[in-house]
Amino acid sequence: VKASNPLSFSLQAKMSRPVQARRLKGIDKNIWVEFVKLAATYSKVNLGQGFPDFPAPDFLTEAFTRALGKGNHMLHQYTRAFGHPPLVKVLAQFFEKLLGRDLDPMTNVMVTVGAYQALFCCFQALVDEGDEVIIIEPFFDCYEPMVKMAGGTPVFIPLRPNPPKDGKLMSSADWQLDPAELASKFSERTKAIVLNSPNNPLGKVFSCRELGLIAELCVKHDVLCISDEVYEWLVYDGKQHIRIASLQGMWDRTVIVGSAGKTFSATGWKVGWVVGPDRLLQHLRTVHQNSVYHCATIAQEAVAQGFQRELTLYGKPESYFVQLPKELQQKRDWLVESLDGVGMKPIVPEGTCFLVADISQFKSDVPDVPNSDEPYDYRFAKWMVKNKGLAAIPLSAFYSEAHKNNYTNFIRFCFAKEEATLKAANDILQEWKQEKTS
Ligand code: PMP
Repeated sequence: VKASNPLSFSLQAKMSRPVQARRLKGIDKNIWVEFVKLAATYSKVNLGQGFPDFPAPDFLTEAFTRALGKGNHMLHQYTRAFGHPPLVKVLAQFFEKLLGRDLDPMTNVMVTVGAYQALFCCFQALVDEGDEVIIIEPFFDCYEPMVKMAGGTPVFIPLRPNPPKDGKLMSSADWQLDPAELASKFSERTKAIVLNSPNNPLGKVFSCRELGLIAELCVKHDVLCISDEVYEWLVYDGKQHIRIASLQGMWDRTVIVGSAGKTFSATGWKVGWVVGPDRLLQHLRTVHQNSVYHCATIAQEAVAQGFQRELTLYGKPESYFVQLPKELQQKRDWLVESLDGVGMKPIVPEGTCFLVADISQFKSDVPDVPNSDEPYDYRFAKWMVKNKGLAAIPLSAFYSEAHKNNYTNFIRFCFAKEEATLKAANDILQEWKQEKTS
């Protein structure tokens, strides 16, 4: 009688064994989930998460609308798994120009759900249990959990700040790798290095010398390079973004990661890509076909048209890839001036849409709590959004557990924002400074 009673069966069926896969241990926390919620609840001005609050360019949104229109009903259906043919074709053409080599759109390019999934495919496809992956700090936070989920071990090397002696503002270029320290991180266990130039959060654009050093070590130790170049077009002051894949010996061992979200100011579309040799990409395709399979056809079609336009206007003043950095450089300069004016010393970024600032002079407002588990910059950023309505991200979120405590005097701001948003941030900072001095 008991066995036929469905209620008694369900009570007995309560699970007691652990449900969480071992590979998820210790990676459940995510800075963005926490700080995006705080910003949504408290912020009047949100310079936290990295997305523009200005519109994507008309040519892109118009391409999307056109793709939605009558006669295009097949764009509502599945497309090729590894990338909508018009998009991989134009990406191949574009990167042929940038890299100076012939590319096969079907084997050297793959479209992903944002750069985020591109990175996930890289780590899953190329990193094995026991492999070491070198990560340069500060780093875009997802690299570490992604390496761990693949069974790999992250090995961290920090960029070391060298303050300028002439009293000038610090630049992201003043944060450098120590060549001997970098060399010491490579061993026979090293499978890959993650390079992110221009770097989020510092805005550092790696120089030819620095890239040469990394390339030399990769070749010497037969190591792969996962090159996250999502901010490739956001470079200022006439600096040049150099693609490590174009250095000698590197094409064969590099996967370039890109993002239409960053390239065309449309982060919500989540279209990204990888470019690289077939011998690496074939394994990324295996991960992709067994997880996401493919991404939204209409968004891929519109991005393809965006690239088509940029291919025609390449290097011309009307090109979005020329105009966007020009506009962002101006926004960077406003934020630099505003932060410098109140004593929140900015580190002037050479690229990206981020700026890191030193909060040391504002510490008296948010007293330290000795022996707290929470780094000081986390508490500062939380206090700031709750009490001043200004959202930013603590810099130590971009460091490993072992090195976090050395970098708790900084917060990161995003300046890909409307002029009015940056002015509102300036008003908050000015008022705050006046309160401190009155
Ligand atoms: N890499 C870096 C360095 C990033 O900053 C971001 C987004 N903030 C990504 C990858 C992910 O890009 P996407 O939005 O295209 O997934």
